[in-house]
Amino acid sequence: MTLETSIEFLKGIGPERAKFIKNVLGITTVEDFLTFYPLRYIDKSKIYKIGDLRAEPEAEIQLKGKISDIQEVAYGKGQKRLTAKFRDDTGTLDLVWFRYSKWMKEQIPLNLPIFIFGKINDFNGIFSMAHPEIEVDEKKALSGTLLPIYPGSEKLSKRGLNNKFFQTVLAEITRNLPNLVEENLSDSLIKKLKLIGRITSLYNIHFPKDLHHFEHAEKRVKFEEAFFFQLGYGLKKQHHKTSAVGNPFPKVGDHFNNFYKHCIPFELTNAQKRVLKEIRTDMKKPIQMNRLLQGDVGSGKTMVALLSMLIALDNGFQSCMMAPTEILAQQHFASVQELLENTEIKVRLLTGSTKTSERKIIHEELLSGELSILIGTHAVLEDIVQFKNLGLAIIDEQHRFGVAQRARLWAKNKIPPHILVMTATPIPRTLAMSFYSDLDVSVIDELPVGRKPIITAHRREKDRLTIFRFAKEEIEKGRQIYFVYPLIEESETLDYKNLLENFDHILEFYEGYNVTMLHGRMKPAEKEAAMQYFASGKAHIMVATTVIEVGVNVPNASVMIIESAERFGLSQLHQLRGRVGRGAEQSYCILVTSDKLSSDSRTRMKTMVDTNDGFKISEVDMQLRGPGDILGTQQSGVVDFKKLNLVTDGNIIKVAKASVEHLLKNDPNLEHPENFQLRTYYAKQYKGKNKWSRIS
Ligand code: ADP
Ligand code: MG
Repeated sequence: MTLETSIEFLKGIGPERAKFIKNVLGITTVEDFLTFYPLRYIDKSKIYKIGDLRAEPEAEIQLKGKISDIQEVAYGKGQKRLTAKFRDDTGTLDLVWFRYSKWMKEQIPLNLPIFIFGKINDFNGIFSMAHPEIEVDEKKALSGTLLPIYPGSEKLSKRGLNNKFFQTVLAEITRNLPNLVEENLSDSLIKKLKLIGRITSLYNIHFPKDLHHFEHAEKRVKFEEAFFFQLGYGLKKQHHKTSAVGNPFPKVGDHFNNFYKHCIPFELTNAQKRVLKEIRTDMKKPIQMNRLLQGDVGSGKTMVALLSMLIALDNGFQSCMMAPTEILAQQHFASVQELLENTEIKVRLLTGSTKTSERKIIHEELLSGELSILIGTHAVLEDIVQFKNLGLAIIDEQHRFGVAQRARLWAKNKIPPHILVMTATPIPRTLAMSFYSDLDVSVIDELPVGRKPIITAHRREKDRLTIFRFAKEEIEKGRQIYFVYPLIEESETLDYKNLLENFDHILEFYEGYNVTMLHGRMKPAEKEAAMQYFASGKAHIMVATTVIEVGVNVPNASVMIIESAERFGLSQLHQLRGRVGRGAEQSYCILVTSDKLSSDSRTRMKTMVDTNDGFKISEVDMQLRGPGDILGTQQSGVVDFKKLNLVTDGNIIKVAKASVEHLLKNDPNLEHPENFQLRTYYAKQYKGKNKWSRIS
């Protein structure tokens, strides 16, 4: 038997079953089976009490007591079953045998202290156990190992592929472990981290003697997953740093300095300064920058982006900045243009709705080098958009763009441009450590001074009148208000109708004020006009769907009312809330929900009320939804670990990451003899798998 052996050749499988197992579980080789880990274990070392039993389907437990009242009961067409009572000092349980022999019946020890083991059935609160395993010897009953329970299904059981089957197969495979696998971590690492050996861990993850042995096995298995995952990213990052040529930007010149001295209307925060320095250090090198800029909403990423583009310009290079929506691109354009008002620097906007004549000018100016900064949507990716010398590409709101799209930016210059990816969606640290392992990460963890934290409240629909009145008072103080309504794709028409109805209510209540509306069905020009109407301060109220979610910047808006807030996810709520609190005034976010809320919804509302910290919110979000959902389906495969849990195994991930960094620092090419096993394993395991090259 080797790891590559097809399961067809294992005892008790054969071609038919092998095919079936492959279809249902995707298992084809011995190796696949080895990492088909138990879902849970039954602890036979534990004795339950009848009085403590709860309705818990599938629970297999051990009880200690005495059997009595054994009798044969006739039922159906001449069929018989055997029943008995089982008592401990807390209660009584029915035992039943549907199949039994006379011999077996006589073997059942009556009125003796014994142990029974089996699955508890709950019939209307009456517990029973069918076909219990009986053990008289206390030592045997209690010295049992933890019994592995494999993830099975009815489909499998029907074919006789039940838990017993999996136990038998795995028992055979694990017996051969010493011939099957080799250690894949270095001795020093194992020693340093007090890990158990690989063979022991694989044996004990299937058949642990007790909880202690299981925990050590699990720790080792999880560490291995985290370690080799990080190693993949680490090697890729290292490769990038040594072989991805980029244009060095050695100097900071007049464009940057003049702007910095004369045009910035505020002092940069320390975090902005630090991040800028990190970017500057990267761009100085003749290596392509590949950096992620994380910063909560309103932390001032745009300014960092602009300053970076000015450094590119000082070195004779063009820049482009790409946003996921037309509105956002327009806003970036408007704010950058305003900031650059007193300079000679040329900026243009390119989106899907840019007129042909304007496009022509853009194309020409890009090629001649006259245009220094291009801001736009994915329209900038089109092949016809060519630069004279693109030196820096900035992508705002990273999670909306696919990898393939980003890769197209690279191709726009002979030497690929430096890449700065900006995201306002903070993600949990464990996720960032895994998901962004091949990017350098900069974090703006500080908001500009003078920002007042947004006050968030959770209200019910019946409070609506009070909320409306409150908003009116704010308008009278000169503020502007957002009303946001959810939009769910499946019932877009309904939602749209709902939005219009609400719009009418608002018009009625706020008679005499200007109300504007923004939703996904509007044409780009209409959207822009509506946005403009609100941004200019002419409209007091903006009624919108989540179109406004990302990036919209109207500092005078101070109240965000989110209707049916329970229909939004946490990160979405946080993004929406980020549309207020952008000016000097106290801002408010009011989450309106119905009375009946699921416990998850309650947690979401409470989290929003309790904190403004996007990173904290993302942690809760991950606990509620799991890591896959946070990254989106497109990327969920990336966090597809067998044992490792990104929600709870933060420490293991941290240690694995540090271990990989240490390893690559001391032995970048994995050439030391002590890393031989590690290198061999990695090469074998990951050859041809391109999972690691997901991020540009
Ligand atoms: P985000 O990080 O969400 O993209 P923006 O770049 O839109 O944030 O900045 C939010 C607001 O804060 C803008 O109005 C911007 O001009 C302002 N701003 C940025 N940096 C500072 C700063 N250091 N001090 C004061 N205001 C700032
Ligand atoms: Mg922004």
